[in-house]
Amino acid sequence: MYRKAISLIALSLCLNFVLQAQAPKEQGLQCINKQTAEAHISFLADDELEGREAGFQGGRIAGNYIVSTLKQLGISPLNDSYFQPFEVYNRERQKRQRFQVDPDSIAVIKNGVHQRLAMRNVLGKIEGKNKDEYVIVGAHYDHLGFDPMLDGDQIYNGADDNASGVSAVLQIARAFVASGVQPERTIVFAFWDGEEKGLLGSKYFTQNFPQMKLVKGYLNFDMIGRNNDEANPTHVVYFYTEAHPVFGDWLKNDIIKYKLNLTPNYRPWDKPVGGSDNASFARLNIPVIWYHTDGHPDYHMPSDHVEKINWNKLVDITKAAYLNLWNLANESTY
Ligand SMILES: [Zn+2]
Repeated sequence: MYRKAISLIALSLCLNFVLQAQAPKEQGLQCINKQTAEAHISFLADDELEGREAGFQGGRIAGNYIVSTLKQLGISPLNDSYFQPFEVYNRERQKRQRFQVDPDSIAVIKNGVHQRLAMRNVLGKIEGKNKDEYVIVGAHYDHLGFDPMLDGDQIYNGADDNASGVSAVLQIARAFVASGVQPERTIVFAFWDGEEKGLLGSKYFTQNFPQMKLVKGYLNFDMIGRNNDEANPTHVVYFYTEAHPVFGDWLKNDIIKYKLNLTPNYRPWDKPVGGSDNASFARLNIPVIWYHTDGHPDYHMPSDHVEKINWNKLVDITKAAYLNLWNLANESTY
């Protein structure tokens, strides 16, 4: 039943390609394209979303958009709902501290005058044949909001940070559906809220997911759409957990096999606990892969706009990561 239902959805997704007889993995790969990336990023980074600040209206609209897209793809919710709501707390603003999500810190903060925000992760899944193993692919969908005191452009659109990463997770979800085959392990598609306020969504998830010990790998995206150096437009940083050198081999081989136009900076890391939501997983010793195209002058500025995205690179990183995730979900060991 599963295979039949999935194939019908696949037909409606990528008709031209499904009609050609291709191996399942390649059938999914063909569905990853620039047009779809543009559709997602243009919506999420539009001024109407007001910079997608976690806990505010623009962020909630972004979450609703992601849920609608998952439903349209036929991706099931991980739990009863696609949304995983959580609350974060901070001391009143003159203390200039960070929002906290763990119960002990929250209990202390609540003793004094404090701030509270309601946030939501979005979580979907494709159930695997083996229900006792999970792999997770994720990107944060929140950004910095807007500042009414700024003179000029007041909206932090966050096209690269991190609408680019959200587009990759959504395209990979579609590609797995279009492949028409059930993966060995269950794949969780995760869209984190509150990353910019301190990795809050991924922290909450890793503290509360009952199957955390069954997670075999986590693949993260944060900023995959820009050039750090215009003279090297194929540059991408590829962080991965050093104890799994095969992660480096996978990318090297797939770049050759599928003619991907990427020049990775391979950075094996004993424990990738910095920078983004990968930290929440690396702290629990879960193997991590993390794609990132490095800093640029528009980083965390209102000028992080959609027209500056390097679409060819974004699409090739999405393809490379889909191939990584295929291995994470289906290879018996790594
Ligand atoms: Zn980010």
